[in-house]
Formats: sequence, C-alpha cells, structure tokens
Amino acid sequence: MSDDTLLDRALIRLEEAASHLNIDQDVIEKLKYPRETTKTRLLIRMDDGSRKSFLAWRCRYDDTRGPTKGGIRFHPDSTIEEVETLAFWMTFKCAVMNLPFGGGKGAVRVDPRQLSKSELERLSRAYVQAFARTVGPDRDIPAPDVYTNAMVMGWMADEYSQIVGDVSPAVITGKPIALGGSLGRNDATARGGFYLVRHLARELGLARDHTVAIQGFGNAGQFYARLSAADNNTIVAVSDSSGAIHRPAGLDVARLIAGKEAGRAVPDMAAEQGAHVIPADELLAVEADLLVPAALEDMIDKTNAGSIKAKVILELANGPLTPDADTILNANGVTVLPDILANAGGVTVSYFEWVQNRQGFYWDLEEIHARLLKIVECEGRAIWDVACERGVSVRSAAYIHALGRLATAIEAHGTQSFFSS
Ligand code: NAD
Repeated sequence: MSDDTLLDRALIRLEEAASHLNIDQDVIEKLKYPRETTKTRLLIRMDDGSRKSFLAWRCRYDDTRGPTKGGIRFHPDSTIEEVETLAFWMTFKCAVMNLPFGGGKGAVRVDPRQLSKSELERLSRAYVQAFARTVGPDRDIPAPDVYTNAMVMGWMADEYSQIVGDVSPAVITGKPIALGGSLGRNDATARGGFYLVRHLARELGLARDHTVAIQGFGNAGQFYARLSAADNNTIVAVSDSSGAIHRPAGLDVARLIAGKEAGRAVPDMAAEQGAHVIPADELLAVEADLLVPAALEDMIDKTNAGSIKAKVILELANGPLTPDADTILNANGVTVLPDILANAGGVTVSYFEWVQNRQGFYWDLEEIHARLLKIVECEGRAIWDVACERGVSVRSAAYIHALGRLATAIEAHGTQSFFSS
C-alpha cells in the first residue's frame, strides 16, 4: 500500500470526476478540505468507580447543500482521518441521492464490546454533551454507524433534548420507533442496495436467481442476505470478523441471523449449515455472481482483488475497495456499484425520518418503501446512463453526477461565501 492517506485516496475520485466536468477550480478547492473537525476527550465514570477517557471527533465536511449528515462510529481503530474521509463520502452520497444535506461523520475510539450497557450509555451521553454546539436539527444530524445502533441514538437524542430544553427528535436519526424513529430505517441500507441490483439486473447481466457472497454479517450484510434470499437468490458464502463459511448449494439465512442474534460467530455455525469454514479472504474468491462487501474500509486491495470471480460488486460498506483494487477490477470487467450509490438507502430513510420528525406526521412502511424505491431507481438509472454515455465506471459516473449538483450549489451560494478576498 502507498503512503497516501485514506482521504488522499478518496480525493482522487473528486479530481477524476472534475476532469469530466467544466467546473470552477474554487469548487474543487472547497471540496478538498473539511469545513470543521472537532476533537475532544470524553471522560467517563466506569462501573468500578474508575475514570477512563476516550478520543472523540465530529467532522462537518461540507454544508453547501444543507445541514451535515452522517453516522457516529464506535471503534477501537477510529482516527481523525477516517472520520474526515467518511464525512467526505457522506457529502457525495447525499448529493448522489439529491437529499438536502451536506456530509458529516463522528467517531469515538473505543471498543464498545468491552463496556457494560451503563458505561455505553454514559459514553453516548458524553458525546452529545461534548458536541452539543456542533449538532442540531438544522446544523448537523448524526445517525448510527459501525457498532452504534438505535439504542445509542435514543440515548443521544434524549441527552440533546435535555440540554436544549425542547423535545428535539430531528437532531438524530436511526432512533427507536418509540422516540420518533422511522419505520423501515433498520433495513434501509440493504434495501437500497437490493432495489438497485434488482433495477439494473438486466444491464448487469444478473439472472433473477443469482448467487451471492457477503463479506461482513452485521446490519447491512444480514438484511441484504434476507432480502436477496427472499427474492429467490442463493447466498453461498458469508463472513464476520471471526471468519467465513461457504456452501455452494446455499446457506439458511434465517438460521444464520438467529445465530448472530444469539451472539454466535459465523464460523461456529458451519456444521449446522452443512458449510465449510474457509479463510476470511477466500470468501472473495468463491464462485458467486454478486459479491457484497458489508464490513469495513479497504478490505479489498491489490493483493486480493484479482481473485474475485463475481461479475458484479455491490459496495454496502463504505470504501471497501482501494483505488488499486478498483483499477484491477475494472480491467477484469467487473462492474462495481459504488458505496455512495449502493449503500445510500440508509441515509435516504434517515432523511425520511428527519422529515417526519419535523412535520410531526408519520408514514407507513409501504410509503417509505415506495419513496425509497423511487429515489434509488431514479438516481441509479441516471448514474448508469452517465456511465454508458461517457464510457466511465459506475463509480466515476456517481461522482460526476454528485459533483455536478455540489458545484451548482456552491456556485449558487457565490464563491465569496466561502473564500475571503
Ligand atoms: P455492523 O457493525 O453491524 O457490521 C459489521 C460486520 O462486519 C460485523 O459482522 C463484523 O463482524 C464484520 N467484520 C468486521 N471485520 C471483518 C473482517 N475483517 N472480515 C469480515 N467481516 C468483518 O456494521 P454495519 O452497520 O452493517 O456497517 C457495515 C458497513 O456498512 C460499514 O462500512 C458502514 O459504514 C456501512 N454502512 C452502514 C450503514 C447502516 O445503515 N448500517 C449505512 C451506510 C453504510
């Protein structure tokens, strides 16, 4: 791997998209740097009475198109650079889907699996206390990400409401339904990807009963497996951080999910599934029509990209492919449906949640699914057409599509809004 940082590598996509558009250099200069990133330490009382401090960040990358929007990750390897890169991707993801949001992201460097529930609650509340002036329904709206969930969002929304003295559910999305969460948010990321694959299946050369391998079996991976299997496809391999299993005739998805919910690791369920345990990286090389990375960043790089047999990759994870891997896969004729389109169902239903909170009127599941389907099909088709017309990858097309919208908004503000003379 080169010395380039994750953000440097993300910015390559920006430069590449800009080369296809006639865009003012000021626009590119503005989008190369985050608007603001705040770093702090959260000091928490542990159950045994001791105190521990945890590094935490919140980045508001760009708010040209609206309040910044993006999840909060609790992970032991989180860094400021990762937070800023994820916030950059959110900026483009919201523009891809034409949502009236900019991009943001937050993280705490912590292994939440080492905390008790009450320690986790204190940490979540401390995060909101620290960033109470950064977040807000018209300023910056967090959501769940890796190792955070609806329960964490509920605590955070409650803490914010206590600080400002109003019930303010629109400050955060991905909340429990009882606190103003939206129906359909839990499977929205996977559902958006599933609608996209189904809509473009003919163009992608995927049969109605294709085979699927899924890397990462958390929220995004499990819901994708469930939706895809229910649509007559065969899930042949899945993995989690403990390892991978493979069964060419197909895995029993409902049983796997029940096992995960009971706290079991994927490889421990091989025998009851009639599956083989395989090394984690070998999941990439199994015979499958569709590969779905749904774990973390940079999982597919130049060392393993060449082994991929799937003809289509759906990036449910953010940034699972390095640019080197992208180049290899393009050369091998693999179509990559990029993260900023493939996993944007999550932020789209988060947007629906924000809208419902603000209007105080809640939609049924049917309406949520119909609205999501419409946006995914509309933006997915537009991006596919850009890729075909310009002869570029779907990733480049998605960046071109989003950058056009961002540039229009930046120019409409007037560049003097951003640069002092
Ligand atoms: P999650 O924590 O629920 O699941 C992550 C899964 O990845 C877990 O099963 C974990 O065991 C697995 N994993 C970790 N390291 C692995 C490895 N080396 N090999 C195989 N599996 C590994 O997280 P999630 O919410 O499903 O998010 C997964 C990805 O999707 C992340 O990149 C996240 O940013 C992205 N994403 C999630 C959402 C959402 O709404 N949940 C929205 C957009 C993007």
